[in-house]
Amino acid sequence: MAEKKTLGKTRKLDSMNRVIIPQEARQIMGVESGDDIEMFMQGQGVYLEKEIPFCVFCDSEKDILELDGIHFCESCGLKIAKGYANRIK
Ligand SMILES: [Zn+2]
Repeated sequence: MAEKKTLGKTRKLDSMNRVIIPQEARQIMGVESGDDIEMFMQGQGVYLEKEIPFCVFCDSEKDILELDGIHFCESCGLKIAKGYANRIK
């Protein structure tokens, strides 16, 4: 994890324990509304990072597809589709 850098002023958690990520931080992270973010604990703090989707079958980060919240690569998707096609023949 990189060195800590302050984002200036503090922010209050709202009544539902949410906090707005400042625009500067969102730009650095490369995230926008609707993106998935991973959270990591370190010591007493929380570290946020843009989720980099990976294949649940082979861990690849290349050519990722998503179905019902499950990420898989195109190669594994083709293997599954071929296996299913052979099964229903
Ligand atoms: Zn895969």
